[in-house]
Amino acid sequence: MHLTAYVACAFPFNEEHLKQLEEEVEEKAKGWPEKVKHELHTGHELIRTKRKAYLKIGKGNAFEVIFISSDRDQSTFDEFYSEMPWLALPFGDGRKQLLSRKFKIQGIPAAVAIGPSGRTITKEARMHVTAYGADAFPFTEEHLKQLEEEIEEKAKGWPEKVKHELHTEHELIRTKRSVYGCDGCGETGYRWSFYCKHCDFDLHPKCSLKEDEDAGTEKGKEGRICDGDVCRRA
Ligand SMILES: [Zn+2]
Ligand SMILES: [Zn+2]
Repeated sequence: MHLTAYVACAFPFNEEHLKQLEEEVEEKAKGWPEKVKHELHTGHELIRTKRKAYLKIGKGNAFEVIFISSDRDQSTFDEFYSEMPWLALPFGDGRKQLLSRKFKIQGIPAAVAIGPSGRTITKEARMHVTAYGADAFPFTEEHLKQLEEEIEEKAKGWPEKVKHELHTEHELIRTKRSVYGCDGCGETGYRWSFYCKHCDFDLHPKCSLKEDEDAGTEKGKEGRICDGDVCRRA
């Protein structure tokens, strides 16, 4: 994966603007192919998918995402941005350096959440979205603390060990980790994992346990999880 961009989240934007923006995006999306093959991911076709956290937060909240690219040239920027449903600074815009300095951005992608008064809420918005999805909004310390408490509470109900078909050699132990890559879905995980330390094998709790956290998620016959927009290997 090449990391060429960082993203800033900002609000407020008014309802009308958001509605207009959504319409524009929907209109634009009609012109996109349903599937593309891409050299960055040759294994599978990429499916045109709405980025759920963004749209979920956008509904009823004055919230907007602004993409600030670190791409090297206009065509790379165009290619990446064409897949994004949110706003962007134009390629080569001088405000990028200013923002990079202001937020002391060290690695990309990064996401900064900015509150209604212009105050920085967190520079770790990316991590929080990965951990909590749209529930991370509005990214305040108080809200995140509450989310963490809820997860801790939930974790008490999980089994201490599980056997899983993706890792039949050993049992997976409920383990508190920092950051890991899930060997099931390939996405990043934070904190709790079902983990095999012999093999350094991690599974998200949601990937280890049969319970489906997203409404409408169904585990298909051939070990695939389909959330309605996209199917992936379970
Ligand atoms: Zn997973
Ligand atoms: Zn193992």
